[in-house]
Amino acid sequence: MQFKDIIGQEEVKEQLLQTVAENRVSHAQLFLSSEGSGALPLAIAYAQYINCLDKRTGDSCGECSSCRKYERYIHPDLHFSYPFFASKDARVAVDVLDEWRSMLMNDPYFDMDIWRSNLNAENKQANINIAECHDIIKKLSFKAFEAETKVLIMWLPEYLDKEGNSLLKIIEEPPKNTLFILVANNQEQILSTLLSRTQIVKIPKLSDATIEGYLVERHGLGEQQATECSFLADGNLIEAKQLVANTHNEHADKFSEWLRMGYGNRVLDLTAFTDLAAGWGRENQKNFLKYGINFLRECSLLLSGAETLVKLPGRSLDTAKKLSAHVLDLGMAEAIIHELERAHYHIERNANPKILFLDVSLQLVKIIKFKTFPQGTQHIYN
Ligand SMILES: [Zn+2]
Repeated sequence: MQFKDIIGQEEVKEQLLQTVAENRVSHAQLFLSSEGSGALPLAIAYAQYINCLDKRTGDSCGECSSCRKYERYIHPDLHFSYPFFASKDARVAVDVLDEWRSMLMNDPYFDMDIWRSNLNAENKQANINIAECHDIIKKLSFKAFEAETKVLIMWLPEYLDKEGNSLLKIIEEPPKNTLFILVANNQEQILSTLLSRTQIVKIPKLSDATIEGYLVERHGLGEQQATECSFLADGNLIEAKQLVANTHNEHADKFSEWLRMGYGNRVLDLTAFTDLAAGWGRENQKNFLKYGINFLRECSLLLSGAETLVKLPGRSLDTAKKLSAHVLDLGMAEAIIHELERAHYHIERNANPKILFLDVSLQLVKIIKFKTFPQGTQHIYN
């Protein structure tokens, strides 16, 4: 992970770079932040930078042998510790390292709830237990394999029991060239003995503007929707992403229901849907139509036999497969996409949403139910 992959936090990045430039990297640091600020990705980018063999201005190179291993979280001198659910098969954290790595590869912004559900352990008690503490001491007492600096990143030291005190000695007098980075959310829940032995790096919440920009750029949200989401997320990027996913699911449910109404020629339902959609507000209407366009493009890929290219998430993918197998053909998908694009164009230009959604609904019936494709029809919505 490079600094450039991290959302916002320019000041912290600068501060961390300075510690390396001035050769004052403290060997035990505690990155303290509220959830969703990116403290874990920052810790990884920092460690990667420290070990990069060809440092560039402001970032690691991303290409040297060390960076390449760091990017895949497989560097032999990069160790992770984190809460897990002890069992017969998971005695220490490294026993669930595969799950941890794939979590990081998938998205390094996650919280305990997401980690827990990835381990399929919703109701179990997580901790960093004594066996794990002993494993950390053992791992760090070996000489480094290839890096100049061995790194241990411990995510959520709040989950250390009193046994965490067994780590005090190694944190206070670590083996040569060893760096500890603890990544925590709640200062009060950390063993005070541990706190007093670390240098605290405070990482601020992300600003609304940063989250807003991220949602517009990376998730294609409209500005108004991005503003709403970033306001609700209150500096928590994980929360912001979940809000986007929920909106996505809502659109998915409504859109597939709309197609079903068209297929069933359910005129009364379509009228009711039109009334409902008319009240959504322009931004939401546009997002809904955009969702429909993207969804049908993915259906077209399925219908062309290019399933490996389809990027729809789980539930939407199931719906797309069912529709593509039983209802849609390529011509229909294209005709509906055309209608939705036209509607999107007119919504942007202040068309009357009620007339517009009713018109598209009727086109849906024509296309899906009666398989007649409108050709060159001219519509005036205003
Ligand atoms: Zn490098």
